[in-house]
Amino acid sequence: MDKAKKSTITAQVVIVGGGIIGTAVARELSRYELDVLLIEAEAEVGWGTTKANSGIVHGGFHEEPGTLKAKYCFSGNQMYPKLCEELDVCFEQNGIMMVARTPHEMETVRLYYKRGKERGVNVQLFSQEEVARQEPNLDPKIVGALFAPEGGAVMPFELAAALMENAIQNGVKYKMNTTVIDAWREGDKKYLETPEQIIRADYVVNAAGLFSDDLARMFGDDYFSIRPRKGEEYIFDLSVKDFVKSTIFPVPGKISKGILVIPTAAGNLMMGPTGDNVEEKEDLGTSQDGFNRVFEGAKRLVPSLDARKIIAQFAGVRAASDRGDFIVELSPNVPGLLHLAGIESPGLTAAPAIAADVPGLLEEAGLQLEEKQSFNPRRAGVVRFNSLSREEQDALVKKNPSFGRIICRCESITEGEIVDAIHRGARTLDGIKFRVRAGAGRCQGGFCQPLITQILSRELDIPVTAVTKAGPGSEQVRYVAKELYDEEVR
Ligand SMILES: Cc1cc2nc3c(=O)[nH]c(=O)nc-3n(C[C@H](O)[C@H](O)[C@H](O)COP(=O)(O)OP(=O)(O)OC[C@H]3O[C@@H](n4cnc5c(N)ncnc54)[C@H](O)[C@@H]3O)c2cc1C
Repeated sequence: MDKAKKSTITAQVVIVGGGIIGTAVARELSRYELDVLLIEAEAEVGWGTTKANSGIVHGGFHEEPGTLKAKYCFSGNQMYPKLCEELDVCFEQNGIMMVARTPHEMETVRLYYKRGKERGVNVQLFSQEEVARQEPNLDPKIVGALFAPEGGAVMPFELAAALMENAIQNGVKYKMNTTVIDAWREGDKKYLETPEQIIRADYVVNAAGLFSDDLARMFGDDYFSIRPRKGEEYIFDLSVKDFVKSTIFPVPGKISKGILVIPTAAGNLMMGPTGDNVEEKEDLGTSQDGFNRVFEGAKRLVPSLDARKIIAQFAGVRAASDRGDFIVELSPNVPGLLHLAGIESPGLTAAPAIAADVPGLLEEAGLQLEEKQSFNPRRAGVVRFNSLSREEQDALVKKNPSFGRIICRCESITEGEIVDAIHRGARTLDGIKFRVRAGAGRCQGGFCQPLITQILSRELDIPVTAVTKAGPGSEQVRYVAKELYDEEVR
């Protein structure tokens, strides 16, 4: 549609991008009396790099002193327990262990220990015996380790969805399936063009992840660029969930933290990621070569890992900046434009701390902040049927029989949990999978997907042919014979 034919809407602050950064910023700004709009290209929040990472809340000892990564990683780590408690998001403080295979590597581990101590991180040094006692499945050749008990694991997608749910509850507006295709400035105002509309804003927060340099360039800001770096990860089934307790790191290489063995917050063990510079920002393919490197690296830490237990794999792309550090700054050229760019690892860990600085940065640019008396930091608790006692389950099923119907057999997820996820904002099969794990088990949705399709159709009051896997263009059911439609499908 021609620019001139599009209607114009306004918002005081527009956040472009609903990843962990954009959603954390949305919640943070919802503490104030502001008119805030979040725009996201995908059907739901958290589907960019936020859904494809290791889910580690890093300890804060890895990053180079003096960098924004170091500053925000440590403070983000410290904010996680309260944030996840307020939002009822699964967060395991299971610790991080960086292991040394040789006395020479142990010297490097000691340097990280010193770095952590200087920063105030809770770090400990472990002897060979202490490592073996705490993690009996690690390679016995490991000579010692650094242990950071406050490192943890979170489900990044669950957190992004919870941040957004809480932001909406506190007044933030949103537009999903909406891509910013052009942007410009006229005087103090900033304009964002989407396929349907023009949005006029006083302030714009650029949280567009891999595309943050493209958005900056639309405004004429051409002073940083994103260099995509891919990471492949491999997930094991639940039979090896207790192989290790903490996330196990090797001594890092020059550009990445190395291949890790990761107990995820969802319970599965995972190994990865690779760290390969790629041309395409959307290069999400996995490869035999990537698998070989990951498996070899992971077996150096946990030799008994068995590749036959792998049930899924994915790749995510880090939005590394040409500065080698996060970019958290007001544009020097466009007043009221704030760049949150180059947020590669540890961006998930850093997100709450970066978001906490955003109101102050926008105030510096002229935004008036008035605290909202009605701000509620808590979202309603989520029922996780599996984690209830037998008595609690019985009582719940009596009250609401949909919790007595198991839809996903692999992960034991009930209809009640799926319906709740839809009422909280899930709109797609992937949205359900990421929120409640229905379809994330060994059969990868083979059994439950048709049932979830019907539940989505019923709850959203749309035909099954309109239910999508991941937004427009990914419809799963093409055609339903008319005579079957009323009786068997809806
Ligand atoms: C393999 C891998 C492992 C990692 N492991 C960890 C880890 O364990 N711990 C950790 O702390 N960090 C980790 N990270 C880093 C972490 O995942 C990122 O720092 C974080 O997800 C970045 O979030 P974001 O919101 O900036 O980007 P994204 O999640 O990519 O969000 C940006 C959003 O902007 C939207 N968007 C882009 N352009 C437009 C547009 N024009 N219009 C509308 N919307 C737009 C996108 O659709 C997207 O949803 C890892 C990264 C990778 C790749």
